[in-house]
Amino acid sequence: MNKDNHNKSALKVNKGIVQPSTVNKEALVSRSKVKKELTVDNYIQGIRDGNRSILAKAITLIESALPKHRILAQDIIEACLPLSGKSIRIGISGVPGVGKSTFIEAFGKNLTEQKHKVAVLAIDPSSSRSKGSILGDKTRMESLSRDKNAFIRPSPSAGSLGGVAQKTRETIILCEAAGFDIILVETVGVGQSETAVHSMVDFFLLLMLSGAGDELQGIKRGIMEMSDALIINKADGDNIDKAKMAKVQYANALHLFPPTPSGWTPQTDICSAYTGDGIDRVWDIIQEYIQLTQTSDYFTENRKQQEIQRLLENVEQRLLNQFYENPKIHDFMEKAKNSIANSERSVYSLIDELFKHYNNTK
Ligand code: GDP
Repeated sequence: MNKDNHNKSALKVNKGIVQPSTVNKEALVSRSKVKKELTVDNYIQGIRDGNRSILAKAITLIESALPKHRILAQDIIEACLPLSGKSIRIGISGVPGVGKSTFIEAFGKNLTEQKHKVAVLAIDPSSSRSKGSILGDKTRMESLSRDKNAFIRPSPSAGSLGGVAQKTRETIILCEAAGFDIILVETVGVGQSETAVHSMVDFFLLLMLSGAGDELQGIKRGIMEMSDALIINKADGDNIDKAKMAKVQYANALHLFPPTPSGWTPQTDICSAYTGDGIDRVWDIIQEYIQLTQTSDYFTENRKQQEIQRLLENVEQRLLNQFYENPKIHDFMEKAKNSIANSERSVYSLIDELFKHYNNTK
């Protein structure tokens, strides 16, 4: 390329005014400082101010497996505890496809329009949801996720049901401290996660479908029994009459269950998350329940019992860990397994010896 051509080429570099860097180094330094220096107090203040991005970061600490994050998270939780407890906690369950996310979107919007602040959490220990599906959840509840009075957080991805449930309980505390006065905890209505959700909410709502053949739809009797309301969704179009019939059938089925400790009679109703019909009534039912149980003091008593249950579960878990992590116990257990495999000893004599051994190691 001769000199002239080179000057016309797009590859040439003009000697001109030196452009300032597009990177604002000062801002970068101060931002990284903020990132590094977000103290427990910063977190607490941010949460108190209802800052959703700081709230989200604090929840990430709760979900983290790193010990230093756990320590920070515990401090934040402790500080948030006195600010928590003032919400209504509602569990929402139902088989996949029943319309949980569509319902939560309609119900949540209805509540934020009434000036409530709504946090949506989820428990799904079976899922291996990763960060990518946070987006998935956002698109599932598109308009709610854009609502500044709503906060949506998908299920913590990894871990046992106990671990996931514990993280969700801690997340509830932070959301309440951030001023969310209604907490919705969604779960898939097929397994044990309902019991875990039931043990952390004030009201348990089960979404059902009409005309799906077997009216129980794989929902275990126990889950129906622990529900405070059975709501038949998709009551729209040709489905309305079927939904009304299902409502009567479920109401009859609920009569056969023993009375609830709250003194509340579980309700059945129909709604359409699609058209929004009946969504108001669901909120009315929940408010009636809250009023009844607050008057009778069951509301507070139930929360205390839930805390006591949580204490016991944590003690059990710690004891188990401590026991099996003890190297002497570990060695003894290995020998004991061999003795049993070789039919040398009975289980009972081994257990006696094991606990003598354990008491001596303390
Ligand atoms: P999820 O798996 O329980 O969260 O269920 P989704 O909310 O994803 O809903 C499953 C399907 O049912 C979607 O195609 C929804 O559009 C549809 N759906 C949800 N609610 C209604 C409703 O009230 N009426 C009708 N006709 N369809 C609904």
